[in-house]
Amino acid sequence: MARTSRAIVQTGPRQLELRELPVPDIDDDSAILRVEACGICGSDAEQYAGTLPARWPLVPGHEPLGVIDRIGDRAARRWGVDVGDRVAVEVLIPCGHCRACIEGRYQVCRGRGGMFGYSYVPLATPPGLWGAYADYMYLDPHSLVHRMRKDLPASTAVLFNPLGAGFRWAVDLPDTGPGDTVLVLGPGQRGIASVIAARAAGADSIIVTGLARDAAKLALARELGADHVIDVEHEDARARVHELTGGRGADVVVEVSANSPIPVAEALRYAAFNGRIVLAGVKGFVPVPDFVSDLVVVKELRIMGAFGVTSPAYQAAIHLIEAGRVPVERMHTHDFALEDAEHAIRLLAGDIPGEQSIHSCLLPERASR
Ligand SMILES: [Zn+2]
Ligand SMILES: [Zn+2]
Repeated sequence: MARTSRAIVQTGPRQLELRELPVPDIDDDSAILRVEACGICGSDAEQYAGTLPARWPLVPGHEPLGVIDRIGDRAARRWGVDVGDRVAVEVLIPCGHCRACIEGRYQVCRGRGGMFGYSYVPLATPPGLWGAYADYMYLDPHSLVHRMRKDLPASTAVLFNPLGAGFRWAVDLPDTGPGDTVLVLGPGQRGIASVIAARAAGADSIIVTGLARDAAKLALARELGADHVIDVEHEDARARVHELTGGRGADVVVEVSANSPIPVAEALRYAAFNGRIVLAGVKGFVPVPDFVSDLVVVKELRIMGAFGVTSPAYQAAIHLIEAGRVPVERMHTHDFALEDAEHAIRLLAGDIPGEQSIHSCLLPERASR
């Protein structure tokens, strides 16, 4: 019996439409996910605006949480899940055979032609439902899925995505541990997730910077583990970091602010000798003014780029959510119906006057506002 799924289809910059698409057939190696929730990512706003390379039309949504609706026998064996299980789905679909994959760096796999992952594959590529802004999503044989407990609200479980980024960017890449002072630049969902992850890793002291309009986000960062926050518009951030670190600077600096390149140059000032700097905030491919490379030399800084999240960090995030010791759900501010995808994206991008979100998600089963 042929079934259909509602799906948001992006046909061009700032053009979304709700369509009814066929739910694909599966084979022995693939599956169909019934989407319970899809997190709204900062990059969704860039995809919506058309500033990311894209082949339209496509179905957006790369932070899926859902229930296995149908699955081939071989996929069930390989993935260790069955019909009815709740799974967190990783965005990247690695080829498994390219050099990056076999060397364990599948987050930069290009073996299937460009970046291959949910919400990036065009609708024209069979079988079509490659994004989670939909009732159902296709699960490719190379999908990476993680089983999650079903008794948590979907809007909490779907936080595996930003929290996974927190663990990879603020802990795994800079090798954060006890004794480290961690400075997080930007208090968005990835910034707050970095605070939670650094705290879980035993960081000694955590400082978060933001703008004046980020007051509520900075307050939440404090509630979820930050020791100090700095409003860079009203305080001398360099002097404050100097004072809070006893003149040493931060051992780890995590740059997760959106759009502005200024914090990248500032990160060099904030870092301690031998400090590790992780750059994860994208800036629209603009150059960084006042980047003083001599600071990298004389302090022997290590600067790392962070693109995406890998399985160990997702696992750490899932364990943290399921353990329930940290009230991660405090990060979640908004639920949206599928029809309200455009509003959800614009809200996260800060385009809706008078309203702010930290983490929001689409819940396809929810009725429109
Ligand atoms: Zn994302
Ligand atoms: Zn590969």
